[in-house]
Amino acid sequence: MRLIFEGPPGSGKGTQAKKLSERRGWIHISTGDLLREAVRNRTPVGLTVESVMREGRLVSDATVVEILEERFRRGDCAAGFILDGFPRTLGQAAALDRILSRLKLPVQRVIVFEVRDEIIVERITGRRSCPVCQTPYHVKFVPPRKPGICDKDGTPLVQRPDDGEDRVRTRLAKYHEETEPVIPFYERRGLVRRVDGGAPPDEVFKSVEQALA
Ligand code: AMP
Repeated sequence: MRLIFEGPPGSGKGTQAKKLSERRGWIHISTGDLLREAVRNRTPVGLTVESVMREGRLVSDATVVEILEERFRRGDCAAGFILDGFPRTLGQAAALDRILSRLKLPVQRVIVFEVRDEIIVERITGRRSCPVCQTPYHVKFVPPRKPGICDKDGTPLVQRPDDGEDRVRTRLAKYHEETEPVIPFYERRGLVRRVDGGAPPDEVFKSVEQALA
């Protein structure tokens, strides 16, 4: 199936997309991951987007559309895909329409993860991870045995540069201003299903599966 997952940062759409991708074999495409990879590899795109991402602002439509087109050129998406974090603006939604109609792979469902802003702030500002083995933690919900230290290899944990409270509030404001208007664009086509992203992850997964029926 060809899906879009929309929702504010920290609404759990990435986690759910990963699980659904593993279960169904649909390709998980996260533009945030693709951009972070470009930053890590110091590619020309990576160098231009690094500071924008750190500040929690949106990367330009042209850049993110180019990165997405490049991803589709790998040619492994015909059996199904889950777009996670794209489109985030109406301009991106229009560009996606053009790309997918060329490939004859139109979107079949848009799942919107609804979570209140204050829950998002608590979730995101508490996120930590191990820079060596990438194990994710949360200071309140999934704390390591020793505060600030990875259980597996003893490495000091780090916070994503855009996960501080100010940055999270910027990202949320961008979501409300720029991304939420994308939802009616798909609602008019009858593609939108809403799930409660504030529920425990297993329940959210069940709601997602129901939304695909
Ligand atoms: P995410 O991992 O989805 O929260 O994305 C992290 C950051 O990457 C965002 O705060 C933006 O700076 C950038 N980003 C990811 N996807 C997009 C997109 N579709 N449009 C613009 N910026 C994006």
